[in-house]
Amino acid sequence: MFRPVTPFCATLIGLLAISRSAEAHREFGYNGAHGPSHWGDDYQTCIGKHQSPINIEEHDVRNASYSSLEFSGLDVPRTSQITNNGHTVMLVMNVSVPARIFGGPLANGTYVFEQMHFHWGENDTEGSEDLINNHSFAMELHAVFFKEDYRSMTDAIHHSDGLAVLAYFFEADDEPNLAYDQIVTILPRVEAVDSKDVFTDPLRLEDFLKPKDLNLQNYFTYSGSLTTPPCSEVVTWIDFKEPLRLSHKQIAAFRGISSAEGQKLTHNFRPVQPLEDRIVYHNIPAYQMNPDNELQNHISQHHRLEKIDHSGQNKISASVFLIFLALSIHLK
Ligand SMILES: [Zn+2]
Repeated sequence: MFRPVTPFCATLIGLLAISRSAEAHREFGYNGAHGPSHWGDDYQTCIGKHQSPINIEEHDVRNASYSSLEFSGLDVPRTSQITNNGHTVMLVMNVSVPARIFGGPLANGTYVFEQMHFHWGENDTEGSEDLINNHSFAMELHAVFFKEDYRSMTDAIHHSDGLAVLAYFFEADDEPNLAYDQIVTILPRVEAVDSKDVFTDPLRLEDFLKPKDLNLQNYFTYSGSLTTPPCSEVVTWIDFKEPLRLSHKQIAAFRGISSAEGQKLTHNFRPVQPLEDRIVYHNIPAYQMNPDNELQNHISQHHRLEKIDHSGQNKISASVFLIFLALSIHLK
């Protein structure tokens, strides 16, 4: 069990209190009378025009070149606690040294880490909330940050630029993802709703939010909402395009926890909502601070050109082909 024996832990307890007060009421679920199509009955905002999740159609996105998305404090080892809140498993961490993100589409401020949690489905063909080209991923991680100017999650959810959520997609694979073993092995200990447990060893956010080989500048971004009641439209979403991998068995472990509705929480993703008048941007970095700059920048530029003048490029390709054909005939 979690025992507040040090000021270190007291900080964590304080944050838990804030998280809990910001949490929605208990009466929502993912099935039947309490399911997503009824959330609007109790929470007017859930039928707003800028809701999440959405389907991201790659041929409809607008390319953009934001400044580099930056992270700080992710390498700090943190005492961490996991909670089954009846809707997901949520991790909160000691933040006496805050973890922050800034830059990218977050032009007007710094955002501070609050918690992270997961969404999954009944099987590995569904589970993510946002979709890409109507493709569902098996799982999605949400890392929730609030704008530092607003000082707390509770205050931030009352401002249109209050929150930033980093979304990571997962595909199912045969190989276990070792970083996630720490979480998967503790899940049976939070099977019951409202149960909590503390990780034996401290966790480092970078293991989850900055995994090796993931291009953190390749993302989609758009304005949306919390995907659970009260569905507040206060979130800048940043969805990393490349999926991570978990084994089928690791994903299955999440389906073993109990839900607020008294069954197994086999799925907890909200269906996609209309895009309405919103634009989804795809970040094409103009310059990246890593040794592969040249290549990545070149590839990005190429993609941008391809996107901006696809028809023109096709015309050029056709012309080159015709010249080549004419030369071949002539040489014969
Ligand atoms: Zn979420």
